[in-house]
Order: sequence, then C-alpha cells, then structure tokens
Amino acid sequence: MATVTRVREIAVVGGGPSGAICAERLARAGWQVTVLDERLAWEKPCGGGLTYKAIERYPFLLDGPEPKKLIRDVVLMASSGQRVRFTLDRPIVIYSRRVLNGLLLERARCAGAQLVQARVCQVDTSGPRVVLRMAREGHAAGSRTADFVVLATGARNTLLPETTPLQPTDLEQTLGYYIPVVSDTLVVKFLPRFEGYLWSFPRPDHLSVGICGKLTQTTTAVMKRHLHDFLEEQGLPRQGQFYSHVLPSPVARTLRTRRVVGRNWALVGDAAAWVDPLTGEGLHYAMRSGELLAEALLAGAPESYPQRVRAEFSADLEFATRIARRFYRGRFLGGAVTVRMIQFLQRSPAFRQLMRDLFAGTQNYRSLKRRLWAQLGITFAEIAVSLFRPPGEAAEVRAE
Ligand SMILES: Cc1cc2nc3c(=O)[nH]c(=O)nc-3n(C[C@H](O)[C@H](O)[C@H](O)COP(=O)(O)OP(=O)(O)OC[C@H]3O[C@@H](n4cnc5c(N)ncnc54)[C@H](O)[C@@H]3O)c2cc1C
Repeated sequence: MATVTRVREIAVVGGGPSGAICAERLARAGWQVTVLDERLAWEKPCGGGLTYKAIERYPFLLDGPEPKKLIRDVVLMASSGQRVRFTLDRPIVIYSRRVLNGLLLERARCAGAQLVQARVCQVDTSGPRVVLRMAREGHAAGSRTADFVVLATGARNTLLPETTPLQPTDLEQTLGYYIPVVSDTLVVKFLPRFEGYLWSFPRPDHLSVGICGKLTQTTTAVMKRHLHDFLEEQGLPRQGQFYSHVLPSPVARTLRTRRVVGRNWALVGDAAAWVDPLTGEGLHYAMRSGELLAEALLAGAPESYPQRVRAEFSADLEFATRIARRFYRGRFLGGAVTVRMIQFLQRSPAFRQLMRDLFAGTQNYRSLKRRLWAQLGITFAEIAVSLFRPPGEAAEVRAE
C-alpha cells in the first residue's frame, strides 16, 4: 500500500466517541476536519460505563463539570442465586451518552473541526478524492469530497469500501430500559450457560438496565424474558424508554484479519469491531482507536494503524475471545465458572483485588492466567481460612 504523506482534508462519518476524538486530534494538528453525523449528540443505547484505564488516559472525563456518576459499590450475582457485594478501589465513571457524546463533540469543535448534521448514504473511495453522498435533515441530498474518510459509524455500519461486513457471529444483541430510578450500586448478573449478562448501571438521574447475548445463540424473546425477570428481582419498574442495539463481539479471526484501513479510508471504534468480547466494553477502545488512527495519519502512515492498534489492545482482545466461552459456559471444580468466581470473591481478598484490577481495566487478559496460577495457593488458603468464620466478616465484602 502506498504511503500517503500529506492528507489534510478529512471527513469523519460518525460523531460518537471514536469519530469525535479522531476529529479533535486531527483538527488540533491544524488539519481541515468535518464530522458528519445524522444525530450528533444523542442517547445512543449504552451502559455508559468508563473503566479506570479510560479515565487515566482521558482525565477530562473525570475532571469536567458534566454530570456523571462515580461508582464503587458493585454487586455480582450468579445464576445459582449466590451474590457478592464488594468495593472497587478505582471508580467506574458512568455517563449518559447524550452528555458524553456532546462533551467529545464540543472538544472536537473547539479544536477546529466543523460539525455537520447529515446522514452519509454512500462513500466512493475509487478516485483521487473520496466522494461522500449525503442526505441532510430538511435538505436535498448533496455530496462533498475529502482526501481521506474516517468511518466511525458504529456497529451497524454499512459503509464498507474494500472490506467485509461484520458477520452475525461477530455481534451481540442488546436490549434494555432507561429507568427513572436513582442508585449508587452497579449490578451484574450471569445466567446459566448464557454468553452474556444482565446489568444495571446507575447514571446521575436514571438507571441503564439491560442484557447482552450472542446474536447467533439466543433470541430477542428469551432475552426480554430474562430482562423482565431481572427487573422484577431488583424491584425495578418496567417503565422508562426501551432500547435495543447491536454490539460487536468479534471472533478472533475478525480481529486478526479484517481489513480496517485502505489508501484513503479507515474504520474506527465499533465499525472496526474494537470491543472487548468478554465484557462488551467499547468506549475506551473507540476513543483509543480514533486517537491511534489520528496518530498514524499525522505520521503520514495510515497503513501503520492496524499495527498500532494490535500493539496496544487488539492482540489482548483476541486473547479474550478464547476465554469468553469458557468464562460464561465453562465449569471449574464441579461448578459453573461464574458461580465459582462469586464464591472466590466472597472468601479471598487476593481474588477480590484481581477482580478490582479487571474492573479497572489494569489487568489484561494475556497475563491473567499467569496471575491466577501465581496466586492460586493464597486464594485457596484464604478460602480455607474463611471457612472458619462467617462469610461477610470482612468489612469490604458482604455475601448476601
Ligand atoms: C446496550 C449497550 C451497552 C453498552 N455499554 C457499554 C458500557 O457501559 N461501557 C463501554 O465501554 N461500552 C459499552 N457499550 C459499547 C459502546 O456503546 C460502543 O463501543 C461505543 O459507542 C462505540 O463508539 P463509536 O464511536 O465507535 O460508535 P457509536 O457510538 O455507535 O457512534 C456512531 C455514530 O455514527 C453515526 N452514524 C451512523 N451511521 C451514520 C451515517 N450513515 N451517516 C452519519 N452518521 C452516522 C451515529 O449517529 C452515531 O452517532 C455498550 C453498547 C451497547 C449496545
């Protein structure tokens, strides 16, 4: 692939976290950037949870005045009914997506990017300049050109120059409600032999409650039933706005081989399937991929973008694809892995610290097995000792 050394006029299609950050970085470097989004800041279906690793890299997400919720109190529930409550040492920061997208778009605008509300229907990358055809709210369809197009159009992206669409096996279905209830506790519940989970994420003035599951392994009706049972169990009303969306949950081959960059185009964020296949975390990878693409473009080497992503996180996400099935469906010491995890959490401080690091995003998947083996002895010793005292004696953890 020929190296492009002077790309200056950029069209970013999609103003979610991946597109907005990419646009901000390029505009800050003096490039001419236009962000085209059919809705601009909107309540995109999402939990809105940012791990500590995202906050550490983007401190303005914690320091700014925008409304957000800092959560340290977590309840994990097993399919068996067992549950554990524990305290995170580094908080999860939860935003409404309208607020988060608005904040990131405003930063792009302040850096010099132009924001345009328009739907892009077609992208032609075959000529010397990229041609984008678009429909603008209340306007006739028009077109514009650019040197390079960044496709940040999310999981439902259909703009695919010289690459393949995501397959059903690369996607999860999600359903949920925004419920007008205030809480300070994040709840996650696992289901028997189900690759996915239920969640309740508290935001400043409501909860985002939902379920995710592999598109090819479950149906909307089954997921809705689990979701409604969960609401009832949590004592939550079945009211508020309903949402449904797809979420990338890429297989290893997709992460390894799918083309995400060409001479004058690139995919970032969900459109590139940069999502943790085990947890569904996508916000950090969306922002970071937008930034890594901007760095590759500014270096005059867009073709280096996949290597930059691989060096930083996609190799770890690929490793996670190997763990995901075993985590949700596997068995350990005669019980479901998720049940054992909750029992270990109840009884072992060393295991609780490992889980805190996973929640913070500071424990990667590739070194997880090594750490689990290294601390297995202490974990079992702590479990053995805890059998001589009532569960929940430690101040930081309460088995319910
Ligand atoms: C239910 C659910 C819960 C989730 N919870 C979490 C969570 O708690 N934490 C986390 O880290 N991740 C979570 N995720 C994942 C996270 O939402 C995504 O990874 C993230 O939004 C990806 O950002 P993005 O910028 O790539 O795409 P998006 O945020 O999807 O943005 C794409 C943008 O492109 C625009 N667009 C699309 N097509 C066009 C077009 N043709 N023309 C113009 N504009 C267009 C859209 O309007 C949109 O604004 C969740 C996902 C789902 C579905």
